[in-house]
Amino acid sequence: AKEVGRNNSQWYRPEMNARLRDRLRRQKQLGEALARDQFRVVYQPQVDARTRNILGVEALLRWDHPADGPISPMTFIPLAEETGLIVPIGEWVLRSACRQGVRWRRAGLPPVRISVNVSARQFLHDGWAQTVASALEDSGFDARHLELELTESLIMQDLDRCVQTMKRLQDMGVRFSIDDFGTGYSSLSALKHLPIARLKIDKSFIRELPQREDDRAIVMAVISMSRRLNLNVIAEGVETQAQVDFLCENGCDEIQGYYFSRPLTPAEIGAMLAVQPTV
Ligand code: C2E
Ligand code: CA
Ligand code: CA
Ligand code: CA
Repeated sequence: AKEVGRNNSQWYRPEMNARLRDRLRRQKQLGEALARDQFRVVYQPQVDARTRNILGVEALLRWDHPADGPISPMTFIPLAEETGLIVPIGEWVLRSACRQGVRWRRAGLPPVRISVNVSARQFLHDGWAQTVASALEDSGFDARHLELELTESLIMQDLDRCVQTMKRLQDMGVRFSIDDFGTGYSSLSALKHLPIARLKIDKSFIRELPQREDDRAIVMAVISMSRRLNLNVIAEGVETQAQVDFLCENGCDEIQGYYFSRPLTPAEIGAMLAVQPTV
């Protein structure tokens, strides 16, 4: 270790120690955040591209740190995944979302699908299917309104196990979408055998629409492929009218993004659902 140290003196820079200390401190705080009630879930509408009705919402986790303020999931989710804390935290998100769905229903609001993000660590964990079953049962939330968002890399990590778990959940009525579609390395021949209801076109392909020619081609190809395969398709990260127009013209089913709405509190979603014309 001494020799490595001599040759790699950057490991001994004081700011490196500070960074490591920071990380360990964050890790410890993350471990306590559940018990301290510092998490909340916000919901971003997913709307029908034509009618603009809210068909679903995506549950997105927020961590309100008492000293440092809100911390982005882009930083703490990877930390939760590395430490395994994503298992209890993810279960909490799932249970919160199911309970919230029931609350909206009991308030007399039209039913919406709720999409919950699932990490590989969670999905491949023994007992995940059981956790979902128990969250549904305890809350009374209709399984047919629950959608789990999986990434291509999660699926390719352990395809056999994934298929098994997906089938069990599908039997309960739960549906699946592929998140960030197009950014991973899944083979279409593998995806073909999975019970997938929707593809979510990653926001990196939407950002420079409609100017960028290669993104236009990719998005049009994904939409037409989805239609032929009878999959529903949604675009995420939609921010402009020009993007909405392009997506509508090309037959995208649903849109999600700041153009329509940022992620909102449960009360704000309730207010939107309450004024939504029934179809
Ligand atoms: P994601 O699943 O791809 O979620 C979409 C992200 O895009 C969200 O960021 C959302 O707020 C953001 N977004 C929505 N509309 C727009 C838009 O028009 N433009 C742009 N530029 N961004 C938009 P957020 O909430 O910061 O979450 C980041 C990531 O953290 C998520 O990406 C997801 O991978 C992860 N994450 C969030 N909540 C959970 C959770 O409960 N469990 C797990 N496993 N991961 C989560
Ligand atoms: Ca997602
Ligand atoms: Ca995504
Ligand atoms: Ca993502």
